[in-house]
Amino acid sequence: MTSAPPFPPRLHVRAQEPMARHTSFGVGGPADYWVEVRRLDTLRLALASAEALGMPRTVMGHGTNALVADAGVEGLVIYNRCSGFDPRRAAGMVLVESGHGMARLAGRCAQLGLGGLGFAIGVPGTVGGAVFGNAGAFGSDVAAVLHSALVWLPGGEGERPARAFEFGYRRSRLQTEAGAPVVLRAALRVEPAAVDDLRRELDALVQRRRATQPRGRNAGSFFANPEGDFAGRLIDALGMRGLAVGGAFVSRLHANFLSTRNGATARDVLELALQVKRRVADACGVRLTPEVRLLGRWNASAQELFA
Ligand SMILES: Cc1cc2nc3c(=O)[nH]c(=O)nc-3n(C[C@H](O)[C@H](O)[C@H](O)COP(=O)(O)OP(=O)(O)OC[C@H]3O[C@@H](n4cnc5c(N)ncnc54)[C@H](O)[C@@H]3O)c2cc1C
Repeated sequence: MTSAPPFPPRLHVRAQEPMARHTSFGVGGPADYWVEVRRLDTLRLALASAEALGMPRTVMGHGTNALVADAGVEGLVIYNRCSGFDPRRAAGMVLVESGHGMARLAGRCAQLGLGGLGFAIGVPGTVGGAVFGNAGAFGSDVAAVLHSALVWLPGGEGERPARAFEFGYRRSRLQTEAGAPVVLRAALRVEPAAVDDLRRELDALVQRRRATQPRGRNAGSFFANPEGDFAGRLIDALGMRGLAVGGAFVSRLHANFLSTRNGATARDVLELALQVKRRVADACGVRLTPEVRLLGRWNASAQELFA
């Protein structure tokens, strides 16, 4: 039997933690090692420990945009719960740690009469995940409000201005940058507004979401919208609502939501996504690419999703 790597005892690392517990799809095999962090210095320690052990590491937020392989994730998964919140009204900014929930951030800012982050009520994950994917909703996104962010890399950390993230539609430079940079904290622009107006705005946005988006186990929109069209419209036009593979199915309420039921596997979700992608390519000549991130030990066949 091989012995566990010598992580600092302060980290309380668990071995073989089932990732199905930590993703909104509710599927995925175990992380070799897994640690929950609630303070930035612990997050830094976890990152530095993986580095020192020569072990791959993956920082995750709420797992609301991640399809984790049934074969699990190699190395250390860091479950980011760092949620410090520091409103700087005079500077027109809030400083927020990367494990803070986006929806909760919208609520806290509204309570304080700080506007501009209402869209975050529609984004289920963390601030770090949102910066990574330039998450957005209701006509706004992270790119529109980010002032700067503190980013960790194996060689050190530093504050980067928003333009350094090279944001695009659901894209940031973080997705391709060497060293897998980690967002520690973000500075987001806010503006003064009336608390009642902001509450009403959030209520209206929540109602809109409830009417148009399925509940249940999914990761939001599975495919990115192709230029000038909507992935959901294409999937719907081909009659694929309700299409199922094993325990994975295309939602009947929103055709770009792939959902899971009990007993589903990550492989079911992948196979379903591939069927959808192939049919849309054959019938419409459009190449859908996933917005959801594939994490962990996928075999080569998963690459077809990105082709
Ligand atoms: C019901 C539902 C509705 C949704 N609606 C929307 C929507 O309207 N708009 C939208 O944009 N998205 C939407 N999503 C997708 C998802 O909420 C966003 O992509 C979100 O930003 C993911 O955040 P997360 O913390 O859950 O990230 P995770 O799923 O945990 O991770 C996603 C990726 O981000 C990386 N990452 C996470 N934290 C960090 C960090 N601190 N530093 C560097 N990389 C990091 C991870 O390594 C991973 O590659 C929806 C999801 C659900 C379930």
